[in-house]
Amino acid sequence: MRTVKSAFKIAGGVHPEYRKELARGKAIEEMPVPMTLAVSMSQHLGAPAKCIVKAGDYVRRGQLLGEKAGFISACVRAPADGLVKAVEQRPGATGALAAHVVLDTAAPAPDGAPPPPRFEPLDWRSTDPAALLARIEEAGMCGMGGAGFPTAVKLSPPPGKRCEYFIVNGAECEPYLTADFRVMVERADRIRAGVEIARKILGSPAVRIAVESNKPEAIAALEKAFAGIDGNVEIVVLPVRYPHGSEKHQIYATVGRVVPEPPALPIDAGCVVENVGTVAALADAVEKGEMPVSRVTTVTGEAVAEPKNVLAPCGTLYSDLVAFCGGMKEPPAKVVSGGPMMGFAVPDLSVSTTKTTSGLLLLPKERTFQYTAGPCINCGRCVDACPMRLDGREICRAMESGDAAAAEKLHVMSCIECGACSFGCPAYRPITQSCRRAKAVIRARAAAEKAKAAAAAKEVGKA
Ligand code: SF4
Ligand code: SF4
Repeated sequence: MRTVKSAFKIAGGVHPEYRKELARGKAIEEMPVPMTLAVSMSQHLGAPAKCIVKAGDYVRRGQLLGEKAGFISACVRAPADGLVKAVEQRPGATGALAAHVVLDTAAPAPDGAPPPPRFEPLDWRSTDPAALLARIEEAGMCGMGGAGFPTAVKLSPPPGKRCEYFIVNGAECEPYLTADFRVMVERADRIRAGVEIARKILGSPAVRIAVESNKPEAIAALEKAFAGIDGNVEIVVLPVRYPHGSEKHQIYATVGRVVPEPPALPIDAGCVVENVGTVAALADAVEKGEMPVSRVTTVTGEAVAEPKNVLAPCGTLYSDLVAFCGGMKEPPAKVVSGGPMMGFAVPDLSVSTTKTTSGLLLLPKERTFQYTAGPCINCGRCVDACPMRLDGREICRAMESGDAAAAEKLHVMSCIECGACSFGCPAYRPITQSCRRAKAVIRARAAAEKAKAAAAAKEVGKA
């Protein structure tokens, strides 16, 4: 094992004010289980889980609440014992409605309630890769870095594709967030165990652990934990630049490979990327039989009384997270689920955490500002900042004319929605929003065309 500097410089990128000092020195604190949990069936990318409990049921920690509902999907397990008060539609962090199981965790267990399910610890050295993968699937694991791609699917390359590099993403380039940093500092041994397990499943690829140079304590902890590991393993130190945490850019920065345009995936470049938190949780699911029903979330921002890195059950209401951090210093002008670059502004604190909630940010008035978009002055900053080399200014113009087809020709489907273009725009143009809108319109159009083609094929079949 050795530590090297990245030899590949990504295109574009920006240097926002990082503000990580608010929480980086705060060790992970486990929060007591709140009285109410609202557990979403849509905590991952792909089809939401199919809820299998109903109001009045008493559930145990680790019990299935929702079953996997498709190839790209994941099951959802109960984060605590509790009485199901309701199964209802509630908005998640993006504002999209999803079924949530609302649990009253203070309700006593009824007489005769079965004990919580037990998952036998597995020794990964003597366990077959298929059985390791089955454990990851039954745990309902998904990527904890943001997108929530189901882990069992990611660790199963399709026939004909081989993983040559397993890349562990510890970049955490989003300002304010320090959850991954704390996991690397405090749980580096679990990351090593997770790497060994993933390596066995994937057929012994080389391993690259990517960390930005502004996290020397994390690099030191990883060097210590990985000392003496067999095989081709490197810690790759990246320069500080947003968005190094993006999968595609991390692949380029660590191994110099380029992922082709969508729908291509990292495996098409011979790579699988998993976040450090996911890798540590994977080790716990296999070696300890612990289901991933809680995660570390950074609760931060200048409006929070005491910023912290909190280990909380998935389903914790944002209001309870903030209360655990001493409440607010002042009413926030903006609440963001995630980081300030890629996170989603939420209207209030009634939303609950999921397996992908990396941060909760409460910003006071002086850290936000109101603006009105002005005309583009063709300065080109958005183009220079774009790590995908897209022309955000033209995409924005296309969407102002309602022309999603023109945006598609400008390769908008390659946009990773990182916000680097909007970050430096002196005219405050809604570039990232235009990209998101264009992608949604193009996807909806493709889905409608597919449904129409399927209906036509059915008619032909009847005739
Ligand atoms: S940064 Fe803003 S003003 Fe400059 S070219 Fe891009 S859209 Fe126009
Ligand atoms: S949001 Fe899209 S267009 Fe803007 S910088 Fe990121 S990848 Fe480029």
